[in-house]
Amino acid sequence: MSEPTENDIEWWDDFYPEGWRDIVHRLYASIEAVSPGHKILQIKEKFGGLRYYVAVDNYADVEALIRDAEAESFMTCEDCGQPCTVTENGWISTLCDEHNPMKDKHYD
Ligand SMILES: [Zn+2]
Repeated sequence: MSEPTENDIEWWDDFYPEGWRDIVHRLYASIEAVSPGHKILQIKEKFGGLRYYVAVDNYADVEALIRDAEAESFMTCEDCGQPCTVTENGWISTLCDEHNPMKDKHYD
């Protein structure tokens, strides 16, 4: 058993919300299928959505895959992976009703 490295998807699991793990791991597999051994530059959450940065020989091959996964993240709770919508309450979060801390708060 060797330790995961930056080229293993598991190495990145701590860098993005847990609820998106399925999306990210599926995206990784899809990119591997067209660009084996692709180099991950960064995976993170930004403005309520997933960002997945890669270095591949031909970005056009993977652009649609990444765009689809990023679009899916905007509809997926970043805590639990349930379907949801982005809420904007001063900050943007992609959380289902159960995990949205702002849900029951009211402001004048
Ligand atoms: Zn949730």
